[in-house]
Amino acid sequence: MVTIPGPIDPPPRLLMGPGPISAYPSVLRAMSAPLVGQYDPFMTAAMAETQELYRGVWATSNAATLLVDGTSRAGIEAAMVSLIRPGDRVLVPVFGRFGHLLAEIAERAMAEVHTIETDWGQVFPPSVIEEAIVRVKPALLGLVQGDTSTTMNQPLDEIGAICSRHGVLFYSDATASLGGNDFEADAWGLDAATAGLQKCLGGPSGSSPITLSERAVAVIESRKKIEAGIREPGDPASPDFVRSNYFDLGMILDYWGPRRLNHHTEATSMLYAARECARIILLEGRDAVIERHRVAGAAMLAGVEALGLVVFGDVAHKMSNVVAVEIPEGVPGDIARAALLDDFGIEIGTSFGPLHGRVWRIGTMGYNARKDAVLTTLAALETVLARFGVAVPAGGGVDAATGVYAEAP
Ligand SMILES: *Cc1c(COP(=O)(O)O)cnc(C)c1O
Repeated sequence: MVTIPGPIDPPPRLLMGPGPISAYPSVLRAMSAPLVGQYDPFMTAAMAETQELYRGVWATSNAATLLVDGTSRAGIEAAMVSLIRPGDRVLVPVFGRFGHLLAEIAERAMAEVHTIETDWGQVFPPSVIEEAIVRVKPALLGLVQGDTSTTMNQPLDEIGAICSRHGVLFYSDATASLGGNDFEADAWGLDAATAGLQKCLGGPSGSSPITLSERAVAVIESRKKIEAGIREPGDPASPDFVRSNYFDLGMILDYWGPRRLNHHTEATSMLYAARECARIILLEGRDAVIERHRVAGAAMLAGVEALGLVVFGDVAHKMSNVVAVEIPEGVPGDIARAALLDDFGIEIGTSFGPLHGRVWRIGTMGYNARKDAVLTTLAALETVLARFGVAVPAGGGVDAATGVYAEAP
């Protein structure tokens, strides 16, 4: 006998971790809109609108601005397998967990991968990246912008010029940072950048916005193509073929482009979600949304410091949208997090690798980059810390955060 569970009915949650976050209500509404056919003029128009909206989000005029269906790593994988030929040298500066992910995916794309590392909680000075480029002579640089595992925001503004001087393709994973921190695809000389919806863009995971420069598109177009499932003559095992069908950006571009050649079936409800995320950002104003994240992040930072918590990493290079704090002596990290969830419906994040069990990560992203979400989280955190015997100033976190909001322009 199979017991049929009831219809899905999630508990109310305030998601204040490093992602996923609570989606904007209008994104959830957009996802429940009726489906249309893959080539319905409404659908192709919605795809074109989504491309134009994301040009605004990425600050680019790249024609090749689109979505890869799947979570953020679908975008990472599509960029890597399509831009890298087996045997190409790839350089990945690693400053957290997601740098290791880029290196691993590049290895699976059969690149010769070189990494440089810095301590968790730090970023790379551009000169260190340039020295490594001169030494390794990579075809592609893969660099995370914001790594949620450490909360650091790697400055990218000088990296494009360095890459272009040395003839290197410049790819960045901006999943954690896009929409909540500056990102200028054209002005910073990016050749490829990818993201996901479940961080500052304020949607669910499952769609990966990507933008590609003309130089990147030329590399992709130079690979062998298989049109609409019909194999051209040639050995599919040759390095000219992209090592994946689903993530072959040449085929995906032909689907999104004027020829509309069938590849996959675009995930309609996720397209509606991605379109709504970008629409919200451009309607509020891209700079205004980044500023809203800056203020929410500054308020959360001031709040946790006022509660006596020690902030992890180089605060000058922290992303606006997430802060890591050391778990105070004697507080059982996971039990305290469970108390926040059970008693207040608030989720904050644990950590990976060297930081596991040492820090909590608290996010203020997308819909939740909001004063009431910040203050509610700080009030609940104070209560839970006090319950575990930490001496916290009554109302101290909320007061400090309120002070930041009072001074915000
Ligand atoms: C959160 C995050 C991801 C997430 O990838 P998913 O496939 O969407 O889970 C990827 N890269 C970075 C830098 C992130 O912060």
